[in-house]
Amino acid sequence: MFQKTIAKTVRCSGVGVHTGKEISLALHAAPDNFGIWFKRSDLSADKALIPASWSHVTDTNFCSTLSSEEGHTVATVEHLMAALSAQKIDNLLVEVNGPELPIMDGSSAPFVDLIEKAGTISSLTPRKFLKILKKVTVYQGDAWASLEPAHGFSLTYDFRLRCKKDSLETFKTKDVHAAFKEALSSARTFGFMEDAEHLRAKGLAQGASLENTVVFEDGEVLNKDGLRFEDECARHKALDAIGDLYLAGAPLMGHFHGHLSGHKVNNTLLRALFADPTAWTLATEKDLQTIPVAQKRRSAV
Ligand SMILES: [Zn+2]
Repeated sequence: MFQKTIAKTVRCSGVGVHTGKEISLALHAAPDNFGIWFKRSDLSADKALIPASWSHVTDTNFCSTLSSEEGHTVATVEHLMAALSAQKIDNLLVEVNGPELPIMDGSSAPFVDLIEKAGTISSLTPRKFLKILKKVTVYQGDAWASLEPAHGFSLTYDFRLRCKKDSLETFKTKDVHAAFKEALSSARTFGFMEDAEHLRAKGLAQGASLENTVVFEDGEVLNKDGLRFEDECARHKALDAIGDLYLAGAPLMGHFHGHLSGHKVNNTLLRALFADPTAWTLATEKDLQTIPVAQKRRSAV
């Protein structure tokens, strides 16, 4: 019910999946109502801050990239954002010395471990939840995604591997935060061998390897140890969606359903939601228990 930050600064480092460069990351505690901000420590201080906000997402190809008003960027934020959502961290300064976050093992598990190592502190300021009041759906080709009213944060994700067009996998959970650590956090990012050359020629995926990506070739997994879950790709896409949705700036109270959707559809969904002030409200848990539905919208800030 109350806002949380971390108890002490924690650090990690690793390769950036797109630049191939070694990146250092530090998570610092932040005060109540600060929210989550990225700080590029390789830029001068007055240009360094980038808010973790859906309205600052400027690129959704292969990952979610945030930009400051000045055009400075930080990419691949979604795996950390998913871990912060699950660990219920409201206020945090994320310091990074390059244009993307380290990919680590391609999942959120290293970030969950890092936050657990830091420990968390609750304040006396209530959390505000983003309560979905009516269904919003967006479409892009065969893909679509929706948010609809629900008591907690629940999720359904439908995935189809492009080389196995007749196999739709669906991952479902009634409680995203309870399920996250065991069922979702270790699901890794994935790619296709046939795309590798094209991506590298475009300057992307320079740091991608079997250490941080599940790689498919002709429908077969090339990683020596295989998959961590039979439906690891569906789980990873659900993880991505949880991270992208935490860019809403508040924990969701609603049901998310993604169908073959990715970062672009996730961001379009938040833009559609916030474009309709009758579709959502921001309120504390206490407000949500005590005020009638008709008044909830007026309590939004
Ligand atoms: Zn991902």
